[in-house]
Amino acid sequence: MRKPIIAGNWKMYKLHDEAVDTSLELKPLVANANHCEIIIAPVFTALKTVADRMEGSNIQVAAQNCSTQIEHSAHTGEICADMIKDIGCSHIIIGHSERRQFYSETDESVNQKTKACLHFGLTAIVCVGETLDERESGNAENIVKKQLTGALAGLTVADMERIIIAYEPVWAIGTGKTATPEQAQEMHGFIRRVLNETHSTEAAENTRILYGGSVKPANVKELMSEADIDGALVGGASLDANSFAQIVNFK
Ligand code: PEP
Repeated sequence: MRKPIIAGNWKMYKLHDEAVDTSLELKPLVANANHCEIIIAPVFTALKTVADRMEGSNIQVAAQNCSTQIEHSAHTGEICADMIKDIGCSHIIIGHSERRQFYSETDESVNQKTKACLHFGLTAIVCVGETLDERESGNAENIVKKQLTGALAGLTVADMERIIIAYEPVWAIGTGKTATPEQAQEMHGFIRRVLNETHSTEAAENTRILYGGSVKPANVKELMSEADIDGALVGGASLDANSFAQIVNFK
């Protein structure tokens, strides 16, 4: 049984106090949600306080990026995965399409960051997804397979226990255009078949695959009813505690 995960990506929104306030507002609204894991990913500057305030609750805290480097070293502006663990985070979002698009993230750097995450015992939420052009030219599966095999290269079957995949079609992120449940299910099923080839049947069956792209309270239930959709990575609709709580409480 794959336990669903609802994760909120707060991107570069919210000052420190705003992030803390939203997390505190969310806490009682989802306190009885035992049917899923709940993760929030605030900006770096708010991570420690939010992680401290969420301690003992059912809300886990994630960073949105980390360094490819695992040694504390001269890499100005970077943050090592163990520094993220040190302040109470359990997950890191890796390879979000906004980082691929605007910050030159490549399959290789996604792979290094994923390994950095695993090296320190954190769980990686690895994002993959095609652009509209890639979908319209019939290349969606090839692109997703390339991103997936690149990100997971060199990972063992045991490593896969600390991997969550987020399928986020770029054309659906922040656009209000959600993939239909059928489109999402089709790609999630494909991802599972790729995991079966690259790792094992067990990894394919056990890995949680989240859908991301304009998930809202109004469409989450339908998406979650698909066999291979194990949760959601939510951007815009996670910024408001009430809206995110409705998504968490999708049942
Ligand atoms: C995201 O940022 O991962 C995302 C899916 O954004 P949105 O829900 O706003 O489309």
